[in-house]
Amino acid sequence: MKNSVFSEYKSKIIGIVIGNIITNFPRGFFNGVIYFLILGLTIPSLSGDAVDFGKLNSYYIMYLVAFFVYILFSILSSINTFVQSYGISSDIRMKLGEKLRKLSLGFFKDNDPGDVTSRMLHDVSKAEETLSHYIIDYINGLIIPILIGIFLAFVNYKLSLILPVTIIISFAFFYIAKRIINVMGKKHLQVINQTSSRILEYTSSIKLLKSFNMVGESFNELDKSLLKLKKLSFKTEVWSGIPVQIALLILDFGYLIMLFYGAKMCVSGLLGIPEFFTYAILGFYFFEPVKQVGISVVLMRHAKNSLDRIDDILSKEESDYYKNQQLSDENSIEFKDVTFTYNDTPVLKNISCNFPQKSMTALVGISGAGKTTITSLIARFWEIQKGIITLGGINIKKIKPELLLSKISMVFQDVYLFNDTILNNIRVGDLKATDEEVIQAAKLAQCHNFISTLPKGYNTLVSEGGRSLSGGEKQRISIARAILKKADVILLDEATASLDPENENEIQLALDNLTKDKTIIVIAHKFSSIMNADNILVLNEGKIIESGKHTELIMKDGLYRKLWNLQKQSGSWKMVN
Ligand code: ADP
Repeated sequence: MKNSVFSEYKSKIIGIVIGNIITNFPRGFFNGVIYFLILGLTIPSLSGDAVDFGKLNSYYIMYLVAFFVYILFSILSSINTFVQSYGISSDIRMKLGEKLRKLSLGFFKDNDPGDVTSRMLHDVSKAEETLSHYIIDYINGLIIPILIGIFLAFVNYKLSLILPVTIIISFAFFYIAKRIINVMGKKHLQVINQTSSRILEYTSSIKLLKSFNMVGESFNELDKSLLKLKKLSFKTEVWSGIPVQIALLILDFGYLIMLFYGAKMCVSGLLGIPEFFTYAILGFYFFEPVKQVGISVVLMRHAKNSLDRIDDILSKEESDYYKNQQLSDENSIEFKDVTFTYNDTPVLKNISCNFPQKSMTALVGISGAGKTTITSLIARFWEIQKGIITLGGINIKKIKPELLLSKISMVFQDVYLFNDTILNNIRVGDLKATDEEVIQAAKLAQCHNFISTLPKGYNTLVSEGGRSLSGGEKQRISIARAILKKADVILLDEATASLDPENENEIQLALDNLTKDKTIIVIAHKFSSIMNADNILVLNEGKIIESGKHTELIMKDGLYRKLWNLQKQSGSWKMVN
């Protein structure tokens, strides 16, 4: 099957194909021996001669040898087929995962999470089935009828003409089914993906839905999606199933016609009785695999839709960068005339600013001003539409994404913890770190005390998403990861706004340990922590409207002072965001 997803695995696929072709030869051979067994049994009984058991025994032996060779080849080629096809599919999944890691967040914005998940699971499974089943059925179904067809043509070419005629007529219907699958299968896959998205949405928001007593309403949405899928699955099955059934009936009918004409020819003396029996037996062995070929052609069309969807992701352009680009030791960041838009309206408009190395720059502004967007652009989660962002004087577009991210640690409000031990969750910061190094980072991040009180300490399992830990604890684990990573640039969403004072103090201590001598960009939610910042950028509607130190900004009659006064009045020292 021609498809670029598989083009990399050509030699493995050729191995699967050759293995299965070879397996079919002993199979064809023992089918052919049947003919000689029939001749050996029927001719003497019709002519009244004695049956030559010596000859018959040698046929039996040939049959048995061919049969056991077939079994042996079949086992070996099945093992090869399954090992290779499962290996290829797992490799494709790894490649997809790797590709997803390299794509910018814009891709995930344009593609539903259900759609992406479905490509990784459902579509790759189809690729796997193509190799482990459809191609095999196709080859097996093709070779045996070819061998039997050639053999029967020598027995009686006139009667054998029924075989290709039946095949041509039946394959016209298989072709119709294939066309239907081509159109309806794509729509079907789309609905499968939409349903996966609804299921993901439903399960991930179940807690929220329960708290608002909305489980019923939300389930209605899922119910509608499932109903739509049920209807479309039924329609696709019926519409493609009808021509397939007709094609199968034609093949059965072809066999019956062959028997009918064979019998007629036998009566009129144009065909011998042994030849007739040969047609009756080998004809059956001819038509059954042809059915298999027809069905696998249709199923492969179905799988092709999935393969195209995998290919669609794998062929997505990755961010371009200079290979082997070395990073400079300098860690300042600069925005030069940067404009960025998520949809149509620009979120950042012609931003130019500098984040000097080993200094702390705070981003201040009301909610929606564009602070988080600035930090996401530094990590190149999104591609900017205009301008340049540099790290150490190098355009970040020219830096290999892995290299860029190795320079940056992010401590954001949303902390994701994996379904693994606390030790391994911290080790995410540096996979090569020893247990001692992880524990040292945890101590600096003020995690050690609470981890030590857990029943299994650092080996305690955290549930996926980190739901079994408090907000403050999760945040300190994320700081421990960042400490372990030893990155030069720290992007920090100061999330202490919603924490209790004890947690807040511990997090402040952890952050002090993290940010020593680093280039720090902090999204500030409270003024008390940024009064000592080296520079403060005040954002409003995607533009920097003020900048300077706290003491300078407070002297101006601008937004900073207004926000400062508002906080003072509320008495909380915290900015609303
Ligand atoms: P801040 O951090 O200052 O609160 P953000 O940078 O998060 O602001 O958001 C700036 C603007 O961009 C807001 O109007 C927000 O709605 C919009 N925005 C943020 N993230 C996305 C996204 N993933 N897709 C579309 N719009 C977004």
